[in-house]
Amino acid sequence: MTAATVTTTPDRARTEARPARGGLLVVGGGFAGASLARMAGREGATIVSPENFMLYTPLLPDVAAGTVEPRHVVMPLRQMCPHADLILGAAGSLDEEARVLTVVTDTGTVDVSYDRLVLAPGVGARALPIPGLAEHAVGFKNIEDAVHLRNTVLHRLDQADAAAPGDRDRHLTFVFVGGGYAGVEAVAQLHELVQHALRSYPRLKGAPQRWILADAAPRILASVPGNLGAYAARQLERRGIEIHTDARLLSAEDGRAVFSDGTDIATETLVWSAGVAPSGLGAALGLPVDEIGRIRVDEHLRVEGRERIHALGDAARVPNAATPDAFDPPTCQHALRQARCLARNMTRERRGKAPKPYAFKTLGQMALLGRHSAIADVAGIHLRGIPAWLMARTYHLNRLPLRRRRLRVAADWFVSEVFPWDITQLGSLGHPRPLGGSPNRTT
Ligand SMILES: Cc1cc2nc3c(=O)[nH]c(=O)nc-3n(C[C@H](O)[C@H](O)[C@H](O)COP(=O)(O)OP(=O)(O)OC[C@H]3O[C@@H](n4cnc5c(N)ncnc54)[C@H](O)[C@@H]3O)c2cc1C
Repeated sequence: MTAATVTTTPDRARTEARPARGGLLVVGGGFAGASLARMAGREGATIVSPENFMLYTPLLPDVAAGTVEPRHVVMPLRQMCPHADLILGAAGSLDEEARVLTVVTDTGTVDVSYDRLVLAPGVGARALPIPGLAEHAVGFKNIEDAVHLRNTVLHRLDQADAAAPGDRDRHLTFVFVGGGYAGVEAVAQLHELVQHALRSYPRLKGAPQRWILADAAPRILASVPGNLGAYAARQLERRGIEIHTDARLLSAEDGRAVFSDGTDIATETLVWSAGVAPSGLGAALGLPVDEIGRIRVDEHLRVEGRERIHALGDAARVPNAATPDAFDPPTCQHALRQARCLARNMTRERRGKAPKPYAFKTLGQMALLGRHSAIADVAGIHLRGIPAWLMARTYHLNRLPLRRRRLRVAADWFVSEVFPWDITQLGSLGHPRPLGGSPNRTT
């Protein structure tokens, strides 16, 4: 895919442009975009997406651990949004005057005309200019990352198994950078996977392992209430996972991860989940963006100064009438509610009614800490351990958009409770995938 460019003058016969179904053109088939297209129902929509599925990201740690099959956490867009057309590709350039978006596909470009354009291209991994990071770190943003991370971790066990006892340590040292939800859940679940897998590696019985979770902030899970964050940290430490806070990664070269707190670790596995960067699409299309590249929208999710262009989800800076002091954080809950607000306002508009401003108070937050352990803050009620774990599992099962996927995920969880964990490696082994190799095709 090519970089997005701005086009201000129509250079081709726009009569050739294919009209978006129902006039609604949605860029991005993630939480926000796919939810909006689904909610548009029979009115129809055209979705532009590089993938033909919506990824349910909260279950990526389960995919990495192998407790859920990769295909079960993705929703085919054509089935999830049966009244929408799908164009597999990436937004290329925009002619605002003619209301035509040029989409770059594998087989060439397609011009699509719209009555309303909704941009929901999400974010990509934020690879900071840290020496060695892009070359050696494993990302954790999309389905390929999750599968790759699982393969990498299992591959390390085989490498350690084959190595002389004095050379095992670096293969059995796993460093995770980023103590947000994704990092905490990933380290917890992969640690558990390795403990199960090691039962099949008698040569590694008793071999020392090292697991490190590092974050530049003073504590992990900075956005959850302090007592829950402290509980999560204690749980991880009890399992032998070292937590390094106030520790910024300085370099990742020559098989060593070096941090600002002086920690210097020999490791073959560095997992990077320290933040994301908004898609560059807004800026590339010449739309107003904030200092970190999020598209600026008003209280009706309209791009500032544009009547018929909206932006939603992680890629947008969304004001929320229920939290006047803060813009929305990048979460699925918020992306979904923004989509719902816009869908309702589109219906109101069709009925000649004025749109309502977006307002949503978060329902709560939860983080899975592996099997039978989690934390949850639900409407101010704090849960820990098994109750929180049951709550998180039930919540995610309910939130999965397709019933058949819910059944498959429930079956996967049941099987992982009853049978030994699957430790097969499929696909690529042990080599880093470039960070930012997420399917954000805009920059
Ligand atoms: C590992 C992980 C775990 C997470 N866990 C949770 C959780 O437990 N709870 C929670 O609330 N949030 C969680 N999140 C955050 C959540 O995934 C995001 O907030 C949510 O996906 C945002 O939705 P979105 O539609 O804005 O972006 P996305 O869901 O990322 O979708 C964006 C889509 O746009 C496509 N796209 C990009 N560029 C273009 C282009 N130029 N043209 C066309 N399409 C394009 C992308 O391919 C993608 O399909 C997690 C995120 C990760 C990475």
